[in-house]
Order: sequence, then structure tokens, then C-alpha cells
Amino acid sequence: MCNTEVSIAFKNPDNTITKIDTNIFELKQLDKKYYEGTIIINKNKKMLYISMKCSFCNKFHGYNYKIKEILYKDLIIGGCKNSGNFILLIGKKEMIYNIIKEHSDINNKIYSTI
Ligand SMILES: [Zn+2]
Repeated sequence: MCNTEVSIAFKNPDNTITKIDTNIFELKQLDKKYYEGTIIINKNKKMLYISMKCSFCNKFHGYNYKIKEILYKDLIIGGCKNSGNFILLIGKKEMIYNIIKEHSDINNKIYSTI
């Protein structure tokens, strides 16, 4: 059996980080919740498409990932092409948690939902 649990974390315009622990099947439902903010999530059987407004350069960045890739990789980082900072993390719960923890002592508050 494949582990379908996946966590996603993204930077908000106010520089806080939203972290969501979910699973691959429920990812699609997240966009309803966060659509009005800065993240748009689309998913079909094979691919996950994420478009989000970048808190560093204020432009929208688009990311495409294979569902398979998400399930088998511990961590996928989506970065800002203009500033080199990460704005999106997808992967296993512990990996995401550790990365956020490393950054949280700078100036981020962490919001955990679900
Ligand atoms: Zn950017």
C-alpha cells in the first residue's frame, strides 16, 4: 500500500506560512478554501497544478507535479524564480514540519489547519 498522506505548506502575502496536513485525494478540495487568498489548486488523476501569488515578487507562479511524484518523494519545493526563496512545499508531514521550523525563528508564524 502506498502512503497517500501529503502535507502542503505555502507562504502567504503577509509572510506567514499556512500548513495543511491532508491526503492526495482531498487536495482538490483545498482550493475552495484558499481560492480567495492566493493559491489555486487543480488536480486530475495524474497531475496536480498549483498557481499561487508569490509573497516575494508579487507575481503568480505556476507549478505542475505528477501525482506519482508527490506520493513517492519526501519533499518537493516550489521556489520563486525571481528571488530564489521557497513559497511552496509539498511532501511528507515530518519533512515539511522540519523545514518550517527552521524558518519559523526568523519571522514567520505558523498556522496549522485541518
Ligand atoms: Zn516570486
